Amino acid sequence: MSSKKVQHHLYKNKPSIDLVQKSIQAAKKLSGRELDEIKLIAVSKKIEPNKILEIIKLGQKDFGENRVQEALSKWPNIQKKFPHIKLHLIGPLQTNKVRDAVSIFDTIHSLDRLKLAEVLAKEFKKSNRRLKCFVQVNIGEETQKSGVLPAETDEFVEFCIRECKIPIIGLMCIPPANEDPAPFFAFLNEIARRNSLHDLSMGMSRDFETAISLGATQIRVGSAIFGPRNDMR
Ligand SMILES: *Cc1c(COP(=O)(O)O)cnc(C)c1O
Repeated sequence: MSSKKVQHHLYKNKPSIDLVQKSIQAAKKLSGRELDEIKLIAVSKKIEPNKILEIIKLGQKDFGENRVQEALSKWPNIQKKFPHIKLHLIGPLQTNKVRDAVSIFDTIHSLDRLKLAEVLAKEFKKSNRRLKCFVQVNIGEETQKSGVLPAETDEFVEFCIRECKIPIIGLMCIPPANEDPAPFFAFLNEIARRNSLHDLSMGMSRDFETAISLGATQIRVGSAIFGPRNDMR
């Protein structure tokens, strides 16, 4: 295993949102989406609170975490000081973590199965908190990835909205790692449109410009803001 770290071209040795913001603006301009609001979610998984605070002080409001447990250990303190921060769950959610997740997050990007929809619906009722949700689509139909299959998405969205009364705002995907993401982003956009869903959560550090050109409304960017994590080699 090499100890050489992956260095993102937008990351210049300290946490920063400057270059990412500039790239977002450029991508919006190129794709004629200058007036659209595109939400930048700073993905802070595995990042220590002091680095997160640096980014909050630069004006960043939306943050993403992929594990409920980690979010619980880092965010309540920060949220006390900065109550305007919005927290997004972008990783898989186990049903036994739903109560904690609903208590700390504002948006869930990973609603991916019937059982989870039912448990979430119950918890929304009980807690009187109704989080906005994205349905995660396994857009490349990869066996190791979670998400609803493209062919089953329409029916699943319908179930979540009609039966469970979950506020579904859009679709989320993570395209296959070593392929051109563009056709997958375009496909997700098409599925969202035929279901009258407005939001598309797609695009990460390596491909958010492409995602913006294909309709992303929320992008999830980690390493281009915070630098390489220790899960990247
Ligand atoms: C980690 C993660 C991201 C951010 O990845 P980067 O490549 O660091 O930008 C985005 N979305 C999900 C679901 C993730 O798990």
